[in-house]
Amino acid sequence: MSNVTRRQFGHLFSGAGVAAFGLGGFGSFAIAQGAAKVVIVGGGAGGASVAHALKLGEPKLDVTLIEVNPKYTSCFFSNLYIGGFRTFESITHNWDGLKKLGVKVVLEWATDVDTTKRVVNTTGGRSYAYDKLVLSPGIEIKYATIEGYSKEAAQVMPHAWLAGAQTQLLKAQLEAMKDGGTVVLAAPNNPYRCPPGPYERACMIAHYIKTKKPKSKLVIVDPKKAFSKQAVFIEAFDRYYKGIIELNLSNDIDDFSVVRVDTKTKQVVTKAGKTVAADVANIVPNQRAGEIAHKAGCAEGDWCPINLDNFSSKRVANVYVLGDASAVPSEMPKSAFTANSQAKVVAGDILAELAKKERFPARFRNTCWSMVAPDASIKVGGNFTPKDGKWEMSGNFVSKPGEDAALHKANFEESLGWYSGITADIFAKTASAPAAKKRA
Ligand code: FAD
Repeated sequence: MSNVTRRQFGHLFSGAGVAAFGLGGFGSFAIAQGAAKVVIVGGGAGGASVAHALKLGEPKLDVTLIEVNPKYTSCFFSNLYIGGFRTFESITHNWDGLKKLGVKVVLEWATDVDTTKRVVNTTGGRSYAYDKLVLSPGIEIKYATIEGYSKEAAQVMPHAWLAGAQTQLLKAQLEAMKDGGTVVLAAPNNPYRCPPGPYERACMIAHYIKTKKPKSKLVIVDPKKAFSKQAVFIEAFDRYYKGIIELNLSNDIDDFSVVRVDTKTKQVVTKAGKTVAADVANIVPNQRAGEIAHKAGCAEGDWCPINLDNFSSKRVANVYVLGDASAVPSEMPKSAFTANSQAKVVAGDILAELAKKERFPARFRNTCWSMVAPDASIKVGGNFTPKDGKWEMSGNFVSKPGEDAALHKANFEESLGWYSGITADIFAKTASAPAAKKRA
C-alpha cells in the first residue's frame, strides 16, 4: 500500500474492492424484504460505509441510517480547508447515493436505545426496531476536563474537532486575526480522533501565517511526550515554518496539558504553569465515544470494548460499535480509513449471521496522510489482523526524515485519490437505483 495511484484507489473503494474484503455473494440467500432490520446510528465514515456495504451485499435488506446533520462535513481534509487548499463545499457530502440504494435515511438525533426491546428512539418521538444495531457516532468532546471550557466557550475558542461550523469558525478567526497575532493550538491526550491531526493542523495554520500574516506565531501546547509521525513533522516544522511554530511537548518535569482557559482574556493556562495570551485559541480537549454508545450501555470508561474479529460489542448483544467510538489496541488509530475498513467487516458479519453462513476472516488496514506544505504530504500505515485479542501487524510503513520533495508530492497526489475514493465509497456516490426498481 505504500505506492498507490489514484486509479487504484478508485478500485479499492469500488464494488470490486468491497468484494475483496469478503462481501458480495450473499445475494442468493433469502433475506426477504423487510424480514431483517438493521439500524445504523451515525452517517459518517463508519456508519454510512456499513450502510453502503450492506446494500452491496444484499440489496433487499431493510437498512435505516439515523444521522442528526443534514450534511456531513468530513474532519478528514478539514485541515486543508483551514490551510486554504480545499473549499468547504469540497469536504461536504450527503446521503443521496445511499438513498438511491434504498437506505432509509432519518435526519434526527438518536436519543436512546432499549437494548432489551431492540429499539432506537429519536428526537422526533419515533422508534426504530432492529435485529442488528450498528453504532458509529464518532466522538464527544470532554469539555469539562478543562476549567472554563464548555460548548459555549467553544464558540470563542473553537476545537474544530467535529467538522462543520466549528471548522469555519476557526478559519474565520484566523482570517480576522491581526498580523503579529498569537495562535494557540492545544492538542489532546491519547487516545483521540486522528493521532496526526493536530500536527497537520499546525502545518496548515503555520502555512496560513507564513503566507498571509508573517509576523504571527503558533504556540502548540501538548500533554503528550511524543506523537504520530513526530520525526517527519518536526522536520517539516523546521523546513517550512522555522520561527513560526513553537512546540511545547510535555516531559518528565513539565506537563503542557491545558488546565484552564478564559474566554474573556483569551488566556490558555497549562499544568506546567505556562500561560499564553492567544488571539486565536484552538482548544482540542480529550474525547470519548459519542453519547448514544454510552446510553446503549456499550461503553466501559470513555470507549466501547469490541471483539476485534467483527467489532461486535463486548457488552451488549446484537450491537456493533465501530469507528472512533470503539476501543481497540492502540496501534490502530481512530481514522476514517480504519472506520471504513471496519465497516466492511461489520457488514460482512451481519450478512453472514443473518444468512447463517460462514464468516470471512477479518482484515483491516490504515493509511493516514498529513499535508505539511503545498504539494507535500507524509504518511503512516499498515495492516491489522486480529489474533488473541491483539493486532498482528504487517506491511507497516511511515515517512522518514530526509525524504525528497518528489516523494512528498507523490504522497500528496495519493491522498487526493484516497479522499475522492473513500468519500465515493462511504456515501455510495456512484450508486444507481437497484435494477428491480428501475424496471418498475
Ligand atoms: P464520524 O465520521 O464523525 O461520524 C459520526 C456521525 O454520527 C456524525 O455525522 C454525527 O453527526 C452522527 N451522530 C452522532 N451521534 C448521533 C446521534 N445520537 N444521533 C444521530 N446522529 C449521530 N481520518 C483519516 O482517515 N484521514 C485523515 O486524513 C483524517 N484527518 C482528520 C483531520 C482532523 C482535523 C480530524 C478531527 C479527524 C481526521 N480524521 C482523519 C479522523 C476521521 O475524521 C474520523 O476518524 C472518522 O470520521 C471516524 O468515523 P466515525 O464514523 O467514527 O465518526
